[in-house]
Amino acid sequence: MLDKKDFRKFAHQVVDWMADYYEKIEQYPVKSGVRPGEIFSLFPDTPPEEGEPMEIILNDFEEKIIPGITHWQSPDFFAYFPANSSYPSVLAEMLTATLGAQCMVWETSPAAAELEEKMMHWLMYLTGMPSGFEGVIQDTASTATLTSLLTAREQHSRYTINARGFTGNEKFRIYGSEETHSSIEKAVKIAGFGKENLVICRVRNDFSMDTDHLRKNIQNDLRKGYHPLAIVATLGTTGTTSIDPLKEITVIAKEFGLWVHVDAALAGSALILPEYRYMIEGIEDVDTFVFNAHKWLFTNFDCSAYFVKDKEALIRTFEILPEYLKTQTHGKVNDYRDWGIQLGRRFRALKLWFVIRNFGVHKMQEIIRDHIRLAQMIKQKVEDHPAFELLAPVPLNTVCFRYHPANVKQDSLDSINQQLLETLNQTGKVYFTHTRLRGKFTLRFMIGQTYTRQEHVEKAWELITRTAGKLT
Ligand SMILES: *Cc1c(COP(=O)(O)O)cnc(C)c1O
Repeated sequence: MLDKKDFRKFAHQVVDWMADYYEKIEQYPVKSGVRPGEIFSLFPDTPPEEGEPMEIILNDFEEKIIPGITHWQSPDFFAYFPANSSYPSVLAEMLTATLGAQCMVWETSPAAAELEEKMMHWLMYLTGMPSGFEGVIQDTASTATLTSLLTAREQHSRYTINARGFTGNEKFRIYGSEETHSSIEKAVKIAGFGKENLVICRVRNDFSMDTDHLRKNIQNDLRKGYHPLAIVATLGTTGTTSIDPLKEITVIAKEFGLWVHVDAALAGSALILPEYRYMIEGIEDVDTFVFNAHKWLFTNFDCSAYFVKDKEALIRTFEILPEYLKTQTHGKVNDYRDWGIQLGRRFRALKLWFVIRNFGVHKMQEIIRDHIRLAQMIKQKVEDHPAFELLAPVPLNTVCFRYHPANVKQDSLDSINQQLLETLNQTGKVYFTHTRLRGKFTLRFMIGQTYTRQEHVEKAWELITRTAGKLT
């Protein structure tokens, strides 16, 4: 077992490994190429009876774990969405692990609670959130959305479902769009509404929620005796980063007395740019809002900023007070265990504090602005190229496109593009993922990794066109 002296030695060694990793990250295949079960079979079926030396463990980490890692911090990572880390974030995370503090109530680590409160104020300032909201860090957007729908449920039922369970007469309806994230469906199921009560509204040509269809759905439901409860608006959908018209949605919500939750998991970070604040027009009238600092704000997973208008409703939904958790300060300070699902909580505000201070507002703005500029550059290249086709507008940092050469029949486009995607990823030089838009197999070029710059994006586009050219 490591002792004090050896801890220091290995900690230095690990830090050197970390610095080397980031320096040579572009040499790794971005997407791990291992087969299912390959890593599992490398380990013994039972744990060691006696402790093993750290040298051997670290060596195994390098040899057995790293080949099975997909390198999300590679600047050549263009898949899914960014899940950024950064140097200051890593330093804070090391300290967080060292302190190992539980941040469930103020007394279990006052600095953690108060820094969290302050960081939520900073994020509100940074994103242009109006006053009247309060924030708390959740582990993920999925959890925040569940928290929101549970709060809506309790507030509308006057806290009776928490007390007595569903009577069966509630008939609540939740509204999303065809492009709403799968975490909404999950939350609807977990909160007990039933998946059939998630009403999916059509999207417009730009893949944003069709609010005419939303209104119709609500009116239909009212006629049928349902109880419309909540609308989930998405800023930056996962497929195309389309932006639901928040203002129109809040107008409808007001008219029918509905709760509004905003899922801005990815796009929330773009709000640090004043020119993207148009996305939150109408924000004064929403109930809850979440965005993931752990996606596009250089802060490693997990760190979801969740803002609520009615703190009392949130706390009333989640508060518990067993004898062993009673403190003298309860009610005078923020005891975050009552602001969500988890009791035990990590000290997540520390990494935000390190990141925001060390980058500064201007640098964060500069990088995000650059990511969006690069996406617009790729969009232009797709449009200018005779053999490529743009499949969605590009409001932010993700370009949806496909290879569509003139000589190829419509019905083989899906398989050609699937082949293009696989061939690209197998090179190890880039990692892309796909979605399906109006039935079409669509490649997504997401630009948002902390250290992605123009050279990486240009190299990737060159690889795409060269690889596609060889397919037909
Ligand atoms: C990534 C994403 C989510 C899920 O985020 P988690 O933090 O992993 O739960 C939800 N909604 C949107 C729009 C996303 O982009």
